[in-house]
Amino acid sequence: MSTHEIFKTNSGESVSIGSVRNGSVQNAYLADWKGVNYSYFSFTSYFLADNAYLHSDIYHVIKKAYKTCESTCPDIHFKLMECGNTEGGKMYFHRTHQNGLGVDFMIPNTRNGESFRWFDQLGMLHYLLEYDEHGRNNLFPSVELDFETMAKHILALDDAAQEQGYRIYKVILKVELLDDFFSTPSGQKVRERGIYFMPRLYPLANKVHDDHYHIDFEKIK
Ligand SMILES: [Zn+2]
Repeated sequence: MSTHEIFKTNSGESVSIGSVRNGSVQNAYLADWKGVNYSYFSFTSYFLADNAYLHSDIYHVIKKAYKTCESTCPDIHFKLMECGNTEGGKMYFHRTHQNGLGVDFMIPNTRNGESFRWFDQLGMLHYLLEYDEHGRNNLFPSVELDFETMAKHILALDDAAQEQGYRIYKVILKVELLDDFFSTPSGQKVRERGIYFMPRLYPLANKVHDDHYHIDFEKIK
C-alpha cells in the first residue's frame, strides 16, 4: 500500500497546467476519504492507484457543495469517484482528468422511492454497472438512478463553483438519460441555469456515463 495518502496534507494552492486532455496539476490536493454525507468510492483507486487528487479550488468546491447537500438532500450519502493522479497527467480508463479540474460523481440510486446503497460498495466495479435509457438498472430493474438528487447536487456544485471563481464548464451524462434528468424538478432548474451537458458523445464515452456523471470546471477569467 502506498503511504502517500496516509501522510498527505493539503496546503497552499494548486496550479493547473494545460487542459483536461493534456495537462497536469502542481501541488494537487487529496480528496477526503470521507465526510459527513459523502465518501470516496474505492480503496484501490484512493490508496493504490493514487487517483483521488484534484485542484485545491475544486477540492473546496466539492466540500462546500456536499455541505449544502446536508440540508437540500438530508437522507443521501454521496460517493465521489475518480479525480486525478498525484500530479495529474494520464490516467487509466479516462481520456481526460489530467489537470485537476475534472471529477467523476456517482449517480445515487433509489429503489421503491428510497435511497438504495448496495451498489456503493462495488468500488472500481461500479463503473461496469449498466442502466437502460430510463435509468433502470439492467440487472435489477427496480433500482433506478436518482436524477432529482443528482440535479440538487449539481445546483450545489454550481453555487459553490461560482463562489470560488469557477463555473461548470461541462457535464457528461449518457445522452439517452438527459431527458429523464431534465424532467425532474431540480433538473429543470439546472437547465434554466444553462449548465452545459454534452449533447453527443463518442459511443464508448456514452456507454460508461450511465452510473456516474463527469464534471469539468473552468476558472472564470
Ligand atoms: Zn470522468
